Amino acid sequence: MKSRQLLFAVGAALALGTRPAVAQLKVVTSTTDLYDIARSVGGNLITANHIGEGYQDPHFIEAKPSFVLQLRNADVWAFVGLDLEIGWMPLLLDGARNPKIKFGGPGYLDVSKAMPVLDVPQGNVDRSQGDVHPLGNPHYWLDPENGRRIARLFKAKFSELDRAHEADYDRNEKAFEARLNAAEKEWQPQLAVMRGKPVIAYHTSWRYFAEYTGVKIVAFMEPKPGVPPSPSHVFEVIKDAKAAGAKVVMQEPFYERKMSDLVAQQLGGTVLVEPASVGGVKGVDDYIALMKHDIDALAAALK
Ligand SMILES: [Zn+2]
Repeated sequence: MKSRQLLFAVGAALALGTRPAVAQLKVVTSTTDLYDIARSVGGNLITANHIGEGYQDPHFIEAKPSFVLQLRNADVWAFVGLDLEIGWMPLLLDGARNPKIKFGGPGYLDVSKAMPVLDVPQGNVDRSQGDVHPLGNPHYWLDPENGRRIARLFKAKFSELDRAHEADYDRNEKAFEARLNAAEKEWQPQLAVMRGKPVIAYHTSWRYFAEYTGVKIVAFMEPKPGVPPSPSHVFEVIKDAKAAGAKVVMQEPFYERKMSDLVAQQLGGTVLVEPASVGGVKGVDDYIALMKHDIDALAAALK
């Protein structure tokens, strides 16, 4: 830009009371859920991108070269942790060669460090058996209390890296919590329907959701997280589900339905395909909408 044009642009920005865009923190997240909460807290003070899409299995994302370019310029790299991204994150971070977001850098944000983690294995874990949750269950965002923890973590990190806007991040974070609190009040009738009801889940991704809603997961379609159901395991699932009176099988859109359909048929029940992330199905465009969608759908199925 020529200097006269630059002066004009600065003058116009000042006249409009806008801040020059160059000061924005560049945030990249691994999932759409972290992305949405980061945007709620960062507002127009950040730019944000996410690597995975809500309709993809977050354990298995393809490491595309375009992601390396995003990470090369990032100020913050926020990820779920607990080895959820182990299959692709090291490759992208190595390629990005950005010291700000490498382990130990100011922008390296392992969100799991701020979470109470379920299903932490006792003793040694044998990864050769295919367990994709060797450090504990990484699907913590499906409990609104953890949604608040994520928001507070972003507030702390953005404030640390951009002191000048501490008050803005604080205000945005409080507004997010207020919206979430109000939404939770509206969910009470649905939560009352769900409490104590038995369900079957495909992956242990629904553990935090079950803790929050009070539904009781009596069997998982996968014998271990990440291991597809075998016929002998499915036989056990049907037995346990019958004993508990469960009739609904919950699963994400990206899992095979065949075995779940078989179980539901045996139980005279239904398969409920629910998104576990923002963008997992059309219309579920933000974190609160995701929680509402999943609660409404399961409550309706359990009525
Ligand atoms: Zn998982």
